Amino acid sequence: MFSYRHAFHAGNHADVLKHITLIATLRHLMQKEAGITLVDTHAGAGLYRLDGDYTETGGEAKDGVVKLMAALRPAGAAPVAAAPVIDDYLDLIASYNPSGLLRVYPGSPFVLHSLLRTESRDKLKLFELHPTDSRTLNANIAQLEAGRQIAVALQDGFEGVKPLLPPPPSATGSKRAVVLIDPSYEIKSDYGKVSACIQELIRRFPTGTYLVWYPIIPRPEAHDLPRRLKTLSNQAQRPWLNATLAIGQDPTHGPDDRPGLTASGMFVINPPHTLKAALQVALPQLLTHLGRGRGKGQTLDTGG
Ligand code: SAM
Repeated sequence: MFSYRHAFHAGNHADVLKHITLIATLRHLMQKEAGITLVDTHAGAGLYRLDGDYTETGGEAKDGVVKLMAALRPAGAAPVAAAPVIDDYLDLIASYNPSGLLRVYPGSPFVLHSLLRTESRDKLKLFELHPTDSRTLNANIAQLEAGRQIAVALQDGFEGVKPLLPPPPSATGSKRAVVLIDPSYEIKSDYGKVSACIQELIRRFPTGTYLVWYPIIPRPEAHDLPRRLKTLSNQAQRPWLNATLAIGQDPTHGPDDRPGLTASGMFVINPPHTLKAALQVALPQLLTHLGRGRGKGQTLDTGG
C-alpha cells in the first residue's frame, strides 16, 4: 500500500494542473472576509527537493514546473506574459527558490499555507497516512510561524475529513470549507473511496468546495471517476467544473519505454464562478509549454 512516494512526482504536469486550480479557487474564495476551513485529505510530505535522490530518479518535474518556469521566466531574460493564475503559481514556486534555481517544490500543504490569512481566520487540517511522509510533513510544518493554524494527522484522510464538516461558523457566522482530495490511486479501491467520500461530504455540507485530482489512464475505474463525480454533483444540484491536461507522449521515447502518467484531471464541485474563465486562459498556455507529442490536449467542462 505504501509504495507510492510523491517525491518521485513532485512538480510534474499533474501537480502543475492541481496546484494552479487550487490557487485559482482559493484566491477567489479569500476575497471574502469570512474564515475558511481547509482540508487536504492526502497531504504528502509538504516540501520536496527537486535536486534530491527521488526526483533525480523520476525527474518528472522537468516535464512540469521546470519546463514551465524555463519557458515563462527564462534566466537572464524578461518574463513572458502568462495567464494570471499561472503567474500566481510561478510566483509561489519562486518564493520557495529565492536563489533563482529550482531546488524546492511546495506540495499542496505549502500551497495552502501560502494562502492562509493571518489572525487565525482560516484553519488548515492535513491528513497523511504514510508514517515517513507524515513525520516529514510534521517537521516541515513545525518550522512555520502559522503553525497554530495548521494541524497534521497521521490518519486516513477519507475518514478524517468527515467529522470536520460542516465546518464551524466563522466570526461573521458563515460556514465555508474547501477540501482537496488527492490520493495516489495506487490501489484500485481509491477510486470508489473518492466517490463515496464526495457523496458523504456533499450530504454533510452541500455548499463546500471539493477538489478532486484524478489520473487519466487506461483503467475502467479511472474513466468512471469523473463520470461518477458529475452524476453525484448533478444529483445534489451542485455546479461542477472538470479540467484536464494531457501532455501527450514523449517523442524521444522508444516503443518499449514506459510512458508514465501523461494526463490528469481536476474535478471541482461548487467551483468559484471565476474559475472557468481563469482556466480557459491558462489551460491552452499550459498545453503550449508542456505539451509533447501524440495525445496532447486540454479540456474544460462545466455543468450543474
Ligand atoms: N496532495 C499532495 C500534493 O499535492 O503535494 C500529494 C499527495 S500524494 C498524490 C498522495 C499521498 O497520500 C501520499 O503521500 C500517500 O502516502 C498518502 N495516502 C495514501 N492513502 C492515504 C489515506 N487513506 N489517507 C491519507 N493519506 C494517504
